[in-house]
This record gives sequence, C-alpha cells and structure tokens, in this order.
Amino acid sequence: MRVAIIGAGVAGLATAKVLIQAGHEVVVFDKTPDVGGVWSRTRRYPGLTTQSPKAQYSLSDFPMPKSYPEWPTGEQVQAYLAQYAAQAGIHITLQASNFDSMLENYVDPESPANDDKWAMEDFGGETDSTYPTQFGFLNTGGSGQIGDFSNPQADSLINASVTGSDPAAVTAEASYFTSQVPVLWQPVLDYTWAWKTNISATEPQAFENLTQYDNTPQFWYLTKS
Ligand SMILES: Cc1cc2nc3c(=O)[nH]c(=O)nc-3n(C[C@H](O)[C@H](O)[C@H](O)COP(=O)(O)OP(=O)(O)OC[C@H]3O[C@@H](n4cnc5c(N)ncnc54)[C@H](O)[C@@H]3O)c2cc1C
Repeated sequence: MRVAIIGAGVAGLATAKVLIQAGHEVVVFDKTPDVGGVWSRTRRYPGLTTQSPKAQYSLSDFPMPKSYPEWPTGEQVQAYLAQYAAQAGIHITLQASNFDSMLENYVDPESPANDDKWAMEDFGGETDSTYPTQFGFLNTGGSGQIGDFSNPQADSLINASVTGSDPAAVTAEASYFTSQVPVLWQPVLDYTWAWKTNISATEPQAFENLTQYDNTPQFWYLTKS
C-alpha cells in the first residue's frame, strides 16, 4: 500500500520506519526544509538542548552516537534524526505541500498536473469519504436521507464534528455511530484508499473518481502503465 505521512518529526519518521518494515511504500511530507520536526534548523534556537537524557530520547532501535553529550544539542538531534531516516530508507519529500494544498489537489480542475498525485479529500455525507461524519445521511432532515431517522444526540455529535473546533468531536461522532447503528452501515474511524496506478474510472481520468465508484466497478477500466 502507498502511505503518505505528513510530518518528518520523531513521530512521522518512526511511523514510516515501521510501515516500511511491514512492506508498505511510504512517503513522508514536511513543509520545513529539513527533517526533525521541532529540531529543524528553522525551529531550534541557540543553546537549545534536549530536556531528556540522550538514552531516554533515543529511538529504541537506533541509539544516539556515543560521542553525543548527555543532553544533545538541537543540531545534534536533527542530525541524528536525519541519519535515522537515511538508514531506514525513508523517502522524504520536503516541500511546501502541506495538508491544505493536498486537500486542494483532490479536485482542482485548474491544476490537471496534480491529477493522480497524492491528495486528500475532506467532505462528509453519504458519499464515500475519508471524513468520518454521517452529515447529510443520519442527521435530522439530512439531504441524502431517504427515511425520517432523527436522533437528537446524533445531531448534536454530527454538528460538533462538522462545525465545531474540537478535533475530538470527529472521534466522538464516529465512535457513537460505531455502536449505535440505526441501519446496516459501516462507519469507519480511519479510511485508507489504495489503487494500482493503472486503474481509472470514467471522466476525468483521475483517481479521485474512484472514491465515488468503489461500489460500481463496472465503471472502472485498466490502462497500460
Ligand atoms: C524546544 C523543545 C525541546 C523539547 N525537548 C524534549 C525532550 O527533551 N524530551 C522529550 O521527550 N520531548 C521534547 N520535546 C517535545 C517534542 O515535541 C517531542 O519530543 C517530539 O519532537 C515531537 O515529535 P513529533 O513528530 O510528534 O512532532 P514535531 O517534531 O513537531 O514534527 C511535526 C512535523 O510535522 C510538520 N507539519 C505539521 N503540519 C504540517 C502540514 N500541514 N504540512 C506539512 N508538514 C507539517 C512540521 O513541519 C514538523 O516538522 C521538546 C520540544 C521542544 C519544542
């Protein structure tokens, strides 16, 4: 599976290494010009060292160099993480391509060059979506709802998830519908799509179309690639 990770800090790099070891094709994106997250040269300040001793701050499968002091400098930690990424064979794409621009890549007729590149979608409702909300489907009066299902608690959770500012609301909504299923429905907390690059569906021949045609594979076709 192709996996995109946003953030080349400790978390992103360690996750990438595990996924690579599991056989996945991983690309790590970061908007800064070097790996390391908080230890990037764009973020560290003179005199910065770790608060944790180096043995504690080291990744368990990659000790820090013996030459490092007990509390390594920010520059040393950044170099250590860059080395960690290199030895793990992590493919890192350092570009100003942040989450927002990846969302824009999803459907942007003005940028056909972005077709079939990494992209994300962020809309909810009845259609297949990576955003786990039932808005438009299980909210009272939802435009995509055929019946008259109405549940005040569900409405409240959906509204908080869609219009609120607390990220936990997304999980709260998805968790609720995972256990309180009003119809045969399979809400998902996390959703990952992966296709072979030679599969397309209808026009335009962009891979985002596949998210809307997963239940109708008769619209799929294979291309030579
Ligand atoms: C000065 C300082 C000292 C610290 N010292 C210690 C310590 O001694 N011990 C300890 O345990 N912890 C320490 N920490 C905590 C530190 O945050 C963690 O140890 C660790 O670095 C966090 O790693 P991370 O990968 O989760 O996040 P980060 O290191 O913050 O990495 C996140 C990366 O994601 C990228 N990113 C975020 N959003 C986007 C986007 N939309 N598009 C593209 N890229 C994006 C960022 O550019 C960044 O590179 C310290 C933190 C600071 C700030």
